[in-house]
Amino acid sequence: MSADLEKTIDRIATEVVAKHAIAVDRGEFPTAALTALREAGLLGLTSATAVGGLGQGLRAAALTVERLGRECGSTAMVVCMHYAGTAVIEQLGPEAIRKDIAAGKHLSTLAFSEAGSRSQFWAPVSTATATTSGVALDAQKSWVTSAHHATAYIWSSKPVAAAGPSTLWLVPRDTPGLTHGAAFDGLGLRGNDSGPVAAKAVHLSESARLGADGGGFAIMMELVLPWFNVMNAAASLGLMEKAVSATAAQAAGAGFAHTGTTVADLPTARAFIARMRIRTDMLRGLLLDTIDAIERSRPDAVLRVLEIKAAAGEAATEVTDLAMRVSGGAAFRKEVGVERVFRDARAALVMSPTTDQLYDFIGKAVCGLPLF
Ligand SMILES: Cc1cc2nc3c(=O)[nH]c(=O)nc-3n(C[C@H](O)[C@H](O)[C@H](O)COP(=O)(O)OP(=O)(O)OC[C@H]3O[C@@H](n4cnc5c(N)ncnc54)[C@H](O)[C@@H]3O)c2cc1C
Repeated sequence: MSADLEKTIDRIATEVVAKHAIAVDRGEFPTAALTALREAGLLGLTSATAVGGLGQGLRAAALTVERLGRECGSTAMVVCMHYAGTAVIEQLGPEAIRKDIAAGKHLSTLAFSEAGSRSQFWAPVSTATATTSGVALDAQKSWVTSAHHATAYIWSSKPVAAAGPSTLWLVPRDTPGLTHGAAFDGLGLRGNDSGPVAAKAVHLSESARLGADGGGFAIMMELVLPWFNVMNAAASLGLMEKAVSATAAQAAGAGFAHTGTTVADLPTARAFIARMRIRTDMLRGLLLDTIDAIERSRPDAVLRVLEIKAAAGEAATEVTDLAMRVSGGAAFRKEVGVERVFRDARAALVMSPTTDQLYDFIGKAVCGLPLF
């Protein structure tokens, strides 16, 4: 990523994302941030230059999501989902939609999780049934980020006729027959507009299919998983950076009048801050190594992709927990920013693939067992 692009992202993060972070945490969708990103061409960051995008890859996407995550976890997650959906559309979607994404006219997201298969997104129970003019979708999607704001969803179903666990579709948000439940009043990531979306006999043309019938599983594992896991980890890293800087500032500024010292003068507090710094730097090292493994098609790339999200979810939980401890009562006050990252960081543990699922997959990979 060029220095100019980095500067632009930094400016938007500082001037727009940070300014709206408290309102977004109250449940407001990060529209101002998306407008600023759109105007800077950053919603098309990963679109090919041939369709008008900035032609950047996963590394730039991860750096962008991390920078946004330092200011606002919800904004980072909306953008993470947009780039994950864009990766699918760039490879398998129609050129007109690719151009729309590059121009910032199309916000993407993933609609994989379902009430039936829960976090095991690789095995949807929703259906796509052949009709005389295309297919009819029936589904109970349980959690969709940007549910009321995305232009279209990358949607999974059982195959129409082929073997295999799934098929993917591009489903416009305003398709008749879709119903959108209210956004969840969640613990963290409160502004990312996650909510359920149901489909009842939703008519789609066959041309809305992304990839082959029955090809969904391979797309999920080979394309979506690396993008999502790396960017989700980058969002966690951003939250950790925020936790470290906010805690250090709080400790340095919290004075004991009777001794003339601060919390930062306490060796226990400093040791906790040191642990937070080390965990954050270790995660950054693993994140950069994971991106390197993917870019160079290293033999350990799959293992790294599985590891990075599990490592990030755990590390962010630990670091933000320490931030709450060291920042004392101040951590409970919203304007300090520590309790927000503490809440936001917990989502990574349960966003699929969940940390516990990843441990199972990693254990299987290390033991030489098949993942599925
Ligand atoms: C803020 C937020 C935004 C989200 N956005 C999206 C989105 O945009 N698109 C989307 O598709 N989904 C999204 N999700 C859904 C997410 O990916 C998970 O599917 C969802 O959080 C799982 O919740 P559940 O109650 O169904 O979990 P459950 O499946 O009931 O899991 C309960 C527990 O069982 C464990 N578990 C389940 N299977 C296994 C296994 N095989 N091995 C070991 N442990 C296992 C889990 O780790 C978890 O600890 C979002 C979730 C959140 C919280």
